[in-house]
Amino acid sequence: MAILILDEQVISQIAAGEVVERPASVVKELVENALDAGATFVQIEVGAGGQRFIRVSDDGIGIPADEVKIAVMRHATSKLRTADDLSRIETLGFRGEALSSIAAVSRLLITTRHRDETMGMRIRLEGGQVLEASAVGAPAGTVVTVENLFFNMPARKKFLKSENTEKRLINQIVMNYAMAYPHVRFVLVHDGREIFRSPGSGQLADVVVKVFGLSQFKQMVEVDGEEIIRGRGGRIVVRGFVSEPDLNRKDRSRVILFVNGRAVQDNSLAYAVTQAYHTLLPKGRYPHAVLVISVPPDFVDVNVHPTKAEIRFEDANIAFSAVQRAVREVILGYARPAMTPRRE
Ligand code: ADP
Ligand code: MG
Repeated sequence: MAILILDEQVISQIAAGEVVERPASVVKELVENALDAGATFVQIEVGAGGQRFIRVSDDGIGIPADEVKIAVMRHATSKLRTADDLSRIETLGFRGEALSSIAAVSRLLITTRHRDETMGMRIRLEGGQVLEASAVGAPAGTVVTVENLFFNMPARKKFLKSENTEKRLINQIVMNYAMAYPHVRFVLVHDGREIFRSPGSGQLADVVVKVFGLSQFKQMVEVDGEEIIRGRGGRIVVRGFVSEPDLNRKDRSRVILFVNGRAVQDNSLAYAVTQAYHTLLPKGRYPHAVLVISVPPDFVDVNVHPTKAEIRFEDANIAFSAVQRAVREVILGYARPAMTPRRE
């Protein structure tokens, strides 16, 4: 075949496949947009594990009516202006790829009203093409509905995992964000049934109780560490809850870490948590932990991966030891049985 530049439609579909791997990734992107919009309430409704529909409603700032059509275009974002801004990202999104990617591979409906405008806007797309856009009355905030996901990507559709796998992933994503944003009220509904709700009290403890259950929560202790990054300035703050050594499991799935409001998969940090227990954990066992870590925005590079699950620290050792020290401080109390703090 001769070398030709792909047409826009194909380019969008290929790019979309990278961001929107599966229904759960749609949930992630839409929830992130709601949080970036300053929502205090985020409702996630899912039908058939996302294969029927996904709807995320928020009470955030909304999209100005004349910008809605732009929001669904590739590389359209209100969160980034210059390459320089990349070094100090404080929003969850910044690549301007989510809405356009989702639009390219689904039937998408957005109803939104910006807080400062009197009329809202409703836009309907299919396979990235705008079919309808009209002014409507709507409450301030945004409702995004995704149907027919991957209707034009049969290969992707075929490889979708079971409904239950997808539901589990979606639950995890929503619960993670509920823990990272305890002041936001989250409601998660599967097939018309509410399965999770966070109170939005601003207290991480209240959400951890909801996610882990009261009996496990009672076996967790609070972490509250903070240190200055030496020779550089700025602070690393490590807050959250970790389990007493007795509460452990055979895999690391309950070591949940957030860095600057983002759930991250970071082997080094997870290892720092486990290391903090030293010999207190039986071999091959892992603690439960929910740690909310904040670092200066320019201490971390979030632009490593399209889904941003991986991050890179300016100095990984500093992050490692800050986490280890914060956890060890509370775990030390368990080192000698005589000193084990007992709680009712
Ligand atoms: P990004 O989040 O990286 O900017 P998206 O494609 O996810 O890219 O969204 C594009 C733009 O649409 C955002 O920058 C934002 O201005 C707007 N937007 C998307 N979702 C919402 C929402 N729920 N509330 C308000 N604005 C939104
Ligand atoms: Mg986004």
